[in-house]
Amino acid sequence: MAARAAGRRRADARRGEPDRDLAVSGPGHHGERERHMRVKVDFDRCESNAVCMGIVPEVFEVRDDDYLYVLQEEPGPELRPEVEEAARLCPKQAISVEG
Ligand code: SF4
Repeated sequence: MAARAAGRRRADARRGEPDRDLAVSGPGHHGERERHMRVKVDFDRCESNAVCMGIVPEVFEVRDDDYLYVLQEEPGPELRPEVEEAARLCPKQAISVEG
């Protein structure tokens, strides 16, 4: 099944948490990387089966159009365990976590 990147980030995905994942986004601040991760999806592999959405819906969403959307490419550190679990359990091994 086809999938595509959600090039635009939904503003409402961050509602209620205005600065958690934005506060450490400045370049050159090494030592803060553990607070910042980047989620990538290989959309050539993804089959939109929504396993990841079941684990961390704050980050992954498969919509009615049958495409996977990444709602937060740089989720806050509190979501790291779930994001890493989603990467581990993705049947297509389409998710990678950097940082
Ligand atoms: S679990 Fe993997 S294959 Fe399934 S929707 Fe998420 S990224 Fe795509």
